[in-house]
Amino acid sequence: MVLCQEFSFSLVYQGFLIAHEMMHAWMNLSGYEPKSEEVEEGISQVMGHMWLECEVSSRNGRWSHFERKLWEFIKFQVEVSHCPIYGDGFRKGQ
Ligand SMILES: [Zn+2]
Repeated sequence: MVLCQEFSFSLVYQGFLIAHEMMHAWMNLSGYEPKSEEVEEGISQVMGHMWLECEVSSRNGRWSHFERKLWEFIKFQVEVSHCPIYGDGFRKGQ
């Protein structure tokens, strides 16, 4: 996937990805073994989604127009993804 520079370096997107990847790291380090890839990715997507929810309240309206639209886009993509691993996993993990 090719991402434009503004998208890939956005703190909103980076925060989402870091929260997602930190959940993978936590599962690995704690010895938790998910039953399937769907469960592991779903839980990680839920964590990334939770980060987005926290971020919107911590910003207190201090957003650029681009950041707000990007936040809406990422959140929407997580919620409606048709991917059986990420999308279905997220919905089951909530
Ligand atoms: Zn993942």
